[in-house]
Amino acid sequence: MDAEVTLVGAGTVGSSLACSLAKQGIKVILLDRDSPLDLAKTSRLEGRTVALNLSSIDLFDELGIWSELKKTGTPFNRMFVWDSKGSSPLEFLAQEIEREELGYVVSNNLILEYLKKIIEDSNNISLKQETELSEVKVNDKEVVISCSNGDKITSKLLIGADGLNSTLRKIARIKTRTWSYNQKGFVAVLKTEKPHDHTAWQVFTPTGPIALLPFDSFEGANISLVWSAELNYSDKLSNLSKKGFIKELEEKTELILGKIELKTDISSFPLNQLHSKNYVSERVALVGDAAHSFHPLAGQGLNLGLSDVTSLASKLIKARRSGVDIGSDKVLKDYERSRKIPNLTMATMMELFKQGFETSDPWIKLARNLAFKTASESQILKKKLIKEAAGIT
Ligand SMILES: Cc1cc2nc3c(=O)[nH]c(=O)nc-3n(C[C@H](O)[C@H](O)[C@H](O)COP(=O)(O)OP(=O)(O)OC[C@H]3O[C@@H](n4cnc5c(N)ncnc54)[C@H](O)[C@@H]3O)c2cc1C
Repeated sequence: MDAEVTLVGAGTVGSSLACSLAKQGIKVILLDRDSPLDLAKTSRLEGRTVALNLSSIDLFDELGIWSELKKTGTPFNRMFVWDSKGSSPLEFLAQEIEREELGYVVSNNLILEYLKKIIEDSNNISLKQETELSEVKVNDKEVVISCSNGDKITSKLLIGADGLNSTLRKIARIKTRTWSYNQKGFVAVLKTEKPHDHTAWQVFTPTGPIALLPFDSFEGANISLVWSAELNYSDKLSNLSKKGFIKELEEKTELILGKIELKTDISSFPLNQLHSKNYVSERVALVGDAAHSFHPLAGQGLNLGLSDVTSLASKLIKARRSGVDIGSDKVLKDYERSRKIPNLTMATMMELFKQGFETSDPWIKLARNLAFKTASESQILKKKLIKEAAGIT
């Protein structure tokens, strides 16, 4: 046996899981077909940001990297959601759940940089970048994988953290429900005239939602933009000059934060939603985007992936302590049960939220406004919604 666990995919979810398992003495081989852990230092605060909820922060705290990560992150204690028609804005405050913050916006690259330090210092993790999974053979006692460079690795359990287009999910013939949003996402870092007030701002427009997340970083930048745009409209946005793009953004966000300056290049990518019908099969488990991928409007994709990490790590550690085979059906099914319902619930909530805000149907709008009015007036319901978003249900 080469290791107890082979983990495919060294993105944020896979690397976090490797660190959690290694901390408890579990030997892990972590492989990736690219080199996600080799980051150019100069670009570390650029690129993608993520809004971490309180449960993800707890995980990074346990791994010992939160105190450093926190120094470069920006806390938010309020979420403000409105639509371009100006009806029924929604406001969530940290103080309503007796917390100081709802979360922090941090650089995804920095998370990877801190995880890499743990991985390099650990005797329990063997990192193999530029190594692609190509074949899997399972028997009663172990799982053997072949990599495209000819390597063979034997372990008790194979975990797929290999993202939206997971190879392992396909090899294991795990079925999915998937759909394209016919939207494209645009991200960039901005400087706005008005302060962000530690608020995550989100406006729903007829051509897609726009999030302005507080993120104080280099050269006075203070906002991380996530703009999801319908395909026809995204073509128009792609063809605009940087100046034209910003002008359009100022209009769509109704100058809520005043005039806007662009601080980085604008990156774009297609948006898809996917949910695996099962998260496990014989000696195989899926975590993160390999199991489920969400629309970025809720900023929950990575957070839910990190909740998978916490759950799977605790099940494996418990099984190992009791002398139970960590690749056994019972252990894996236990993990699946713990995560499927919360992930599906979030997917459904997000879909309802998106449809409720994007519709032009006056009846659906009326139902939405009534639902939000009820939610805002009912302290219990509102607290539940805020706790769900902050990951502390
Ligand atoms: C615009 C945008 C904004 C977002 N904002 C937020 C946010 O604010 N908060 C939040 O929680 N989430 C957010 N998300 C979601 C979040 O980014 C993803 O959920 C998260 O990055 C998924 O991580 P992962 O490790 O599961 O997958 P990935 O990051 O996709 O990593 C998968 C890894 O597997 C490797 N791999 C793939 N196939 C193979 C193979 N055959 N062999 C070996 N290696 C392989 C890949 O090279 C890759 O490194 C956002 C997403 C988008 C698009």
